[in-house]
Amino acid sequence: MIQLNTHYAELKDSYLFAGIAQKTRDYLASHPGQKLYRMGIGDVSQPLCPAVIEALHAAVEEQAHAESFHGYQPECGAPFFREAVAAHYAARGVTLSPEEVFVSSGASDELGDILDLFSPESPAMVLEPAYPAYLDASVIAGRRILHVPASAENGFLPSPPETVEAGLIYLCSPNNPTGAVFGREALQSWVNYANKTGAVILFDAAYEAYIEDPALPHSIFELDGATTCAIEICSLSKTAGFTGTRLGYTVIPKSLTRQGLSLNAMWVRNRTTKTNGVSYVLQKGGAAVFTPEGQQQIKEQIALYKRNARTLTQALDACGVWYTGGKNAPYIWLKCPGGMGSWEFFSYLLNEIQVVGTPGEGFGCCGEGFFRFSTFASPADTAEAARRLLQLFGGRA
Ligand code: PLP
Repeated sequence: MIQLNTHYAELKDSYLFAGIAQKTRDYLASHPGQKLYRMGIGDVSQPLCPAVIEALHAAVEEQAHAESFHGYQPECGAPFFREAVAAHYAARGVTLSPEEVFVSSGASDELGDILDLFSPESPAMVLEPAYPAYLDASVIAGRRILHVPASAENGFLPSPPETVEAGLIYLCSPNNPTGAVFGREALQSWVNYANKTGAVILFDAAYEAYIEDPALPHSIFELDGATTCAIEICSLSKTAGFTGTRLGYTVIPKSLTRQGLSLNAMWVRNRTTKTNGVSYVLQKGGAAVFTPEGQQQIKEQIALYKRNARTLTQALDACGVWYTGGKNAPYIWLKCPGGMGSWEFFSYLLNEIQVVGTPGEGFGCCGEGFFRFSTFASPADTAEAARRLLQLFGGRA
């Protein structure tokens, strides 16, 4: 009889967002017609910017004519897309060759697929609270998990542990859910640790475009020694509204080797076996993000989400609620007032003011007692959520 991957049985029952969806459905079933203010799930509310839309339209038109039609694209990415990303890195002082950039269908797909490079015998280190996919993808692969707790005391940015165990290290900066961002010194200590132990860092930079403090690194490759220990996974989802369009990119330096093997060459082999490339049309749309017009337009969009962040943090300040994040990241991580548990607070906000957030407990150990707001909703909904928070907690949180 066929043997299944029984590690699936070790996954926690319900994925965080499925639990939230169920509870909000139940609420709406018993309160028909109520409007909810969704400050929870991390989808964006603003459309693709004009430069991207124009490039997508033009690419679709090319596909309509035999003379300009494009079939399969190179599995690792169209040269124009890989060059556009490499030039974007060069503009911030990171030298990459286009062959070190791989196109992807988004960071989630890539975070799962990239595990093909590593033996399941190697453990995965997860700094918690963390984006749930790190843990779940590692559990499915049968990988041992090393939990590294983050807390308010270490600014949700823990240092490398004393234990010297080579494996995978997931780092996410700016962090989902806490909004914490590694400074140079702290990130350098992880790079040094990985080089010393032979570990490989999977650096999730899905939110790098939200960094506004010029002292903070956007890419791990801004740090000394990172090209021999890190893979960077990026997404256009929150940078440019590609959540429904699906496009991302991954950087694997050619100098990243383990056991005499090049991880870049291994990934080329993986992609050429397991994919037939990403759509020409989407890569054209993605490349438009890196043009001067595209950069200007996405900056304006990100500025809108940052105004949402200010609307929410001003309300939390006025209510005396402790929080972090929301400045260099699109997430605000707050302490549930009155010592409430995070699911308890979820139900309280839903029932009292119809505001939906994300319970911290869903992000692993250390998340209990905390709550996440995202800043991707429309400005009108965010302003109303802030008004309701003020009304509920004004002066007594
Ligand atoms: N990484 C982090 C930290 C995220 O929060 C998300 C999405 O919310 C992703 C990756 C996935 O991004 P994508 O839409 O590119 O799959």
